[in-house]
Amino acid sequence: MSSLPTTQQLRERARASLDRIGVAVVEGSGLSARSPITGEDLFGLRATTDDEARQAIAEADQAFRAWRTTPAPVRGELVRTLGDLLRAHKSDLADLITIEAGKIRSEALGEVQEMIDICDFAVGLSRQLYGRTIASERPGHRLAETWHPLGVVGVISAFNFPAAVWSWNTAIALVCGDAVVWKPSELTPLVSLASSRLLDRALERTGAPRALHRLLLGDRAVGETLVDDPRVALVSATGSTRMGREVGPRVAARFGRVLLELGGNNATVVAPSADLDLAVQGIVFAAAGTAGQRCTTLRRLIVHRDVADQLVERLAAVYGRLPIGDPFDEATLVGPLITDAAADAMAAALDRAQAEGGKIISGGRRLGAGGGAYVEPAVVRMPKQTGIVREETFAPILYVLTYDSFEEAVALHNDVPQGLSSSIFTRDQQEAERFLAADGSDCGIANVNIGTSGAEIGGAFGGEKETGGGRESGSDSWRAYMRRATNTVNYTSTLALAQNVSFL
Ligand code: NAD
Repeated sequence: MSSLPTTQQLRERARASLDRIGVAVVEGSGLSARSPITGEDLFGLRATTDDEARQAIAEADQAFRAWRTTPAPVRGELVRTLGDLLRAHKSDLADLITIEAGKIRSEALGEVQEMIDICDFAVGLSRQLYGRTIASERPGHRLAETWHPLGVVGVISAFNFPAAVWSWNTAIALVCGDAVVWKPSELTPLVSLASSRLLDRALERTGAPRALHRLLLGDRAVGETLVDDPRVALVSATGSTRMGREVGPRVAARFGRVLLELGGNNATVVAPSADLDLAVQGIVFAAAGTAGQRCTTLRRLIVHRDVADQLVERLAAVYGRLPIGDPFDEATLVGPLITDAAADAMAAALDRAQAEGGKIISGGRRLGAGGGAYVEPAVVRMPKQTGIVREETFAPILYVLTYDSFEEAVALHNDVPQGLSSSIFTRDQQEAERFLAADGSDCGIANVNIGTSGAEIGGAFGGEKETGGGRESGSDSWRAYMRRATNTVNYTSTLALAQNVSFL
């Protein structure tokens, strides 16, 4: 394992990035900014109170009322300015992501690039919020649908994409004419302060209402204030299925809208015809990358019996060489887990897998003494899809299962509660198409000859079943952030009532 920076060095690096972005950290109590690199606290921060949260929602609601009548292409200018500021501060924000989420440098830079990309996408979208014209059954009538801004969007986000998830929601919501109140993960407050400050600067620069964005810092309690407030028209919540199970019904009880992006338990099928060189690269990136802490991380490998031994041997060889340690070190490919609790959950899952008949082929040990939670990514061969394999453990564990027929592979693939991302490695075109067909993968994302992680912002992102069913980012996901009105216009002097009924 490579040597680590000290907490004091991380503190100084964080402060320098925050200074350049324009955040003056006001230290306080109630919330800690910490770094998984050393496992120690960086600064104490003040959490948002319940009254402040309600006030923030009220202000955002007021700002929305002005913003909704601002022409959409003008709203796009705000998001363009945010994108420019993100370009200028890409490295600063990436530093904070590495410090607080433990992502290796290339992934942290990649996360900020996603933010820039979604801003570009949203600017284009600001001129394309199309409704449609529908053939009316009545003469002299026009039937159409129009899309209007929705209101305040509450964004609740997870630690593992501390900035990108906010930007996917916020860039789209702003061009759609909404205001945003953001409750980020309590584990990544500095990234949130920095992202929020960049948007504040864009708001100042373009003269848009300042209260179009508000940040609430704190744990789930402040998130609950957002969830229960009837002024919040849409709650877009990203995190564990446990969180979604609590948030979904609460928002539904007040007839609010909800967009849920929850846990995944993603699988890749490796067929006998697969290009194994390609497969090994795709599998290791998806399973061990981000230390297994992506919602799209590859967790289950379903391999044809004829190639299973060979593939597992090659994976074990690559896993044995993975550089683990300081995420700022250019050579590192696997950084720390977010907390000790995450490492404990990984150890418990490995114990359970072995009790259920699994055999650890590679990795699985915790490295270093104390400090950050560094672990070796693990490959575990399982005799069947047991209870632990059907759960999402948010750590780098790859369970390997074998299959004989394609039907069996698809059945195993779909037999889990989650439905986010999936892929198949095959050179058989029929098999590839069958995997993508109606009775193939049941996930929101299904890929061929590429891994399960690393989605592009241009597509709609989200999953089925316990993943929550929401879609955000590209394609027509913007519709979740607007309300639809169906308009009938009669341009004649007669009223065509159904069945020619007359009330006169
Ligand atoms: P988490 O569920 O612990 O927390 C997510 C957010 O929800 C945090 O901001 C937290 O404070 C808040 N929260 C928790 N309970 C709440 C409640 N009752 N009311 C309101 N807010 C509440 O998740 P995490 O550990 O930060 O992130 C990891 C999880 O997120 C994994 O399951 C991962 O798969 C999932 N995830 C999903 C996606 C996706 O797009 N599908 C993306 C990233 C992460």
